[in-house]
Amino acid sequence: MYTNYNQILREQFGARVQKISINAGFTCPNRNGVKGWGGCTFCNNQTFFPEYCQPTKSVVQQMEEGIYFFRRYEGQLYLAYFQAYTNTYAPLDDLRRLYEPLLEMNKVVGLVVGTRPDCVDERMLDYFAELAEKHYVMLEYGVESTLDRTLERINRGHTYAESEWAIRETAKRGIHTGAHLILGLPGESDEDCLLHADRLNELPLDMLKLHQLQMVKGTTLAKEWLEDRSIVKLYTMDEYIDLCVRFLQRLKPEIAIERFISQSPKDMLLAPDWGVKNYEFVDKLRARLQAMKK
Ligand code: SF4
Repeated sequence: MYTNYNQILREQFGARVQKISINAGFTCPNRNGVKGWGGCTFCNNQTFFPEYCQPTKSVVQQMEEGIYFFRRYEGQLYLAYFQAYTNTYAPLDDLRRLYEPLLEMNKVVGLVVGTRPDCVDERMLDYFAELAEKHYVMLEYGVESTLDRTLERINRGHTYAESEWAIRETAKRGIHTGAHLILGLPGESDEDCLLHADRLNELPLDMLKLHQLQMVKGTTLAKEWLEDRSIVKLYTMDEYIDLCVRFLQRLKPEIAIERFISQSPKDMLLAPDWGVKNYEFVDKLRARLQAMKK
């Protein structure tokens, strides 16, 4: 089997923990010329936002509305999840003004901050370490691939060495570390995808999110793919389950998995359209893992 990140949170807090997405209106340095232009070739940020989560509302209001929306379970606790764009891409004083009011809210036990590995520095990590003394704090890095040739191919604008540096420096300060990885990026074989597991095993990572490569309308990659379908292998769900099983066999159990697939809104997705939600995919994957035990 594998280590389930949601279960780890539940054990740590003794309650169900729900992440609430917050859109603080950050931008991305890979779009505005600071790191690059045009963004990562697979990215269309419109796929990130739930309805309650609009940057015209304050972060506290978004959190209140998110908590109201998800108020299903008695005793449930919450994490503020800064997901869209690059959520450390602002001066430190601005970040303090965003993060700290959320940590004072009732039932909010911490922060999860999604960012690029080249958008943190030692001073910022020291600040997160201060917050982590009293709250749950995770920095979730978009690693996407451990191969520099792929990172270059998708216009990611940073190297794998930068991901390694950020994850090690974050963990060293007692801050939880998470990573995103996309399986099936252009030029990557199944064996390359499995190599990512070996490389991540060398890092002090607490959590990993896997994503199948999706062709999303309006992205550079989708345009390239519409012109030449051979540039990527888009997995069928069965093939992807098989790849995930092999990936899990290589991944060390200290790295907990939060999710295996992403779900772009249907009207934005070109392919592959598997029509399953994450929990349905997890059920299928678990059934496959169980069957292998027999
Ligand atoms: S994936 Fe992240 S870093 Fe890349 S363009 Fe989109 S927001 Fe920017």
